[in-house]
Amino acid sequence: MSHHFSARSLALSAAFALAIGVAACTPSTEQKAASAAPSAFDIPKEVEATAKREITAATLGAPIRYLASDALEGRGPATRGDTLARLYLATELESLGFQPAGTDKSWQQEFDIVGVTAQLPKAWNFKAKTGPVDLKLFDEFIAGSGVQTESAGFKDAELVFVGYGIEAPEYQWDDFKGVDVKGKVLVMLNNDPDWDDKLFAGKTRLYYGRWTYKYESAARHGAAGVIIVHTTPSAGYPWQVVQSSWSGEQFELPAEDEPRVQLKGWATEDSVRRLVKAGGFDLDALVAQARERSFQPVPLGISTSIQFKNKVSRVRTGNVAGILPGSDPKLKEEVVLYSAHHDHFGIGPADSTGDTIYNGAEDNAAGCAQLIAIARAFAALPERPRRSVLMLFVAGEEQGLLGSKYYSLHPTIPAGKIAANINFDGGNFLGRTKDLTQVGMGKSSLDAIAKALVEKQGRTLNPDQFADKGYYYRSDQFSFAKIGVPALYFDNGLDYIGKPEGWGREKEEQWTEHVYHQPSDEINDTWVFDGMIEDAEVGLYAGWLVAQADAMPSWTPGDEFEAARKKALAQ
Ligand SMILES: [Zn+2]
Repeated sequence: MSHHFSARSLALSAAFALAIGVAACTPSTEQKAASAAPSAFDIPKEVEATAKREITAATLGAPIRYLASDALEGRGPATRGDTLARLYLATELESLGFQPAGTDKSWQQEFDIVGVTAQLPKAWNFKAKTGPVDLKLFDEFIAGSGVQTESAGFKDAELVFVGYGIEAPEYQWDDFKGVDVKGKVLVMLNNDPDWDDKLFAGKTRLYYGRWTYKYESAARHGAAGVIIVHTTPSAGYPWQVVQSSWSGEQFELPAEDEPRVQLKGWATEDSVRRLVKAGGFDLDALVAQARERSFQPVPLGISTSIQFKNKVSRVRTGNVAGILPGSDPKLKEEVVLYSAHHDHFGIGPADSTGDTIYNGAEDNAAGCAQLIAIARAFAALPERPRRSVLMLFVAGEEQGLLGSKYYSLHPTIPAGKIAANINFDGGNFLGRTKDLTQVGMGKSSLDAIAKALVEKQGRTLNPDQFADKGYYYRSDQFSFAKIGVPALYFDNGLDYIGKPEGWGREKEEQWTEHVYHQPSDEINDTWVFDGMIEDAEVGLYAGWLVAQADAMPSWTPGDEFEAARKKALAQ
């Protein structure tokens, strides 16, 4: 699975050396060239000394102990804990000498979160040539409302099979071929074509393979609704996960002028097979057609009507933003954007011990603490870096990356002036590792920086081992990638120094099962910080290198987000 990664990143390092063009690259004397071989990735002694002083067990531990304390009640959006967390983060930035960089030069960027609960009929009826077909809610189909109005639905809409529903000029792939699907219900396959390494990065799931892309793609075409065909391999999870995540209230940003479908649906493979059969089609044959570039949308000879009511609610939360101006009169207009989400799940159902507070110590008080420690280091540097440093603590990540999405739609710094994003979601509290994982390796010139820095620590940098699951699109860096900003996002290493082989993976699995998104995500005496310190240092140094370089980082040529960058730079 990871073979194509290594080939890609090798080719990249050479290209990067040309692209980055750091002043330090050019040795001033012949003697220097012969001996020291300074590299574009060297970190000056005073920057290292500042990091050692400012990024410590205390500067990381204290913010985690505060943010994850029971007093903050799990930092659920629009709660007292949310307000306190935001006030604390803004206070930290102000005390370090940052300037407010939120709405109207305040510390915060507030926004509304809309909650929509769709009340769907127990059965969804379809009219086909051979007679009526019903899909049963929950067992066979699941849906959410695509709109935030009290009622939604459509009448006599025709079903059209559109394959993967993908339009990707960089892969010469277009499933729509200009066919008008306005007002139709689109039946789509999940994932992206993954049977060929040259198509959509092979097994790696790109954004084209995420369900969010499918609904956005349908909306752009003016469709009335979508049915994504669920299979466990193409989703990456079983039907039960679709059932639990699409039942109940769904959270979104308030609707603006973007196109929307009325209904965002999923159906099991078996029920879609039964449905298309009623129109005279064989699902396997349709899937086979969808694998060809020459695929054309297939009207299924089936129509449907559905009407449903929505319960709509609205609450308010916000991002926190502070900026440390750079030293270069021109480059200081550009920023290195650090992000970490400050929200978690608040107070919820009790666990087996009766605990109801979802403290979110690792997720993501740990990420916030790393941002604060990095902010401290930048503020304490004897010389400011050339570009500015923007610290952004985003809200509503757990409800669907809402804070970073809001920022990307309403950036306080223009997208074309954001050199790179370095995102922290989680942190290592188990000790030093011989490795570090980079989610989204292969996508941008930032790879070369990450690799050099991690190797200088005597560690190895590994690609994400679950690239088919699309983790790159599941934390806040994705919101910034969509507006063209290349990002670094690391996951903990697994090979712990002084521990037997397999220990890290076992700990990780136990944590996922017993702690992740549960009240037990708390900080306690077993936490150690030497691993988190090293990871935060990589984040600091990477941002410093980006801030100093003559040119901004770039996407790997042909990457899915390259076009968004070109657009941002042209504005
Ligand atoms: Zn998180």
